[in-house]
Amino acid sequence: MQCLWCNEDKARKTTKDGYWVLPDGASTVEILQVPALECADCGLYIEDEINEEVENRLHTSDLTHYSNVFTYEELLKAPTI
Ligand SMILES: [Zn+2]
Repeated sequence: MQCLWCNEDKARKTTKDGYWVLPDGASTVEILQVPALECADCGLYIEDEINEEVENRLHTSDLTHYSNVFTYEELLKAPTI
């Protein structure tokens, strides 16, 4: 598929683990298996759209029952505050 950065047809869908700072600014969570693209030239990256989705959900989801490591799927299933 097409890479969003270089526009070459060298990318494939994969997942990436990443760290996000919670809205309180004090704690960090590790989110596993976040949808990502891997390009032969640009490397592995998370699309801005997905990054924003994660940010939004961290602000609107009730994560009190989660530890500080969870998957993207689990984030999507978290109840809304
Ligand atoms: Zn690329």
